[in-house]
Amino acid sequence: MLVDVHCHLTDESIRTNLAEVIDDAKKSGVAIVVTSGLGYEDCLKALEISDYKMIFPSLGIMPYELGGYENVLDLIEKNAKKIVAIGEVGLDFHISVKTDRELQRRVFKEFIELSLRLDLPLVVHSRSAGKYALEVLVECGAKDVIMHAFDGSASHSIIGVKNGYFFSIPPSVVRSVQKQKLVSKVPLDNILLESDAPALSPVPGNVNLPSNVRISAEMVSKIKGVPLEKVEEVTTENAMRILRIRA
Ligand SMILES: [Zn+2]
Repeated sequence: MLVDVHCHLTDESIRTNLAEVIDDAKKSGVAIVVTSGLGYEDCLKALEISDYKMIFPSLGIMPYELGGYENVLDLIEKNAKKIVAIGEVGLDFHISVKTDRELQRRVFKEFIELSLRLDLPLVVHSRSAGKYALEVLVECGAKDVIMHAFDGSASHSIIGVKNGYFFSIPPSVVRSVQKQKLVSKVPLDNILLESDAPALSPVPGNVNLPSNVRISAEMVSKIKGVPLEKVEEVTTENAMRILRIRA
């Protein structure tokens, strides 16, 4: 049994054939899928499609589209008992992003504070900002952190490991040397699996799906030299514990 701790089932490319996508995920051994809403409207959709058996919601907003973020804070507060995480939220310092970095930091801190107050884990986006996102998290005393698709250097990941943070590994690990280095550096006890569907497919340009978390698991097994069953067992246990989902 596998857990996909982060994806976007509300994306048009997936939502239109959701039943089939979920069926394929089950066939691939995926038992739990966390769908992350991005912005107020999408968060409502994430709540709507969650069945709390296999699909669980996480509510957040992209750091490069922060318009209306206050509404997302409100929505999280109102649905705190219904959601398994806050996110994705975080920082995006990619060259293409024009959103002010100080504004991003300020908003990120608000979400971190909310996660502490509501005692909910955080799913963190940190494109081209791994080191900075970790700095903010440590500074704010964040607990229960999932660094999703971390693209920072493997040496920076150690700061996260020291603070008990998790790193979720997407299927693009098969074609990313940076992700492969991350997997070798981070202990299995701090690893989770994600698809980030429809993004981060093992094959560039393809629509990614939750069923592909099996590919992440296989790659972690290969890099770490531990049996696939062990990777499944440990990552699933890690996921259920941090998301507080009971089997
Ligand atoms: Zn995502």
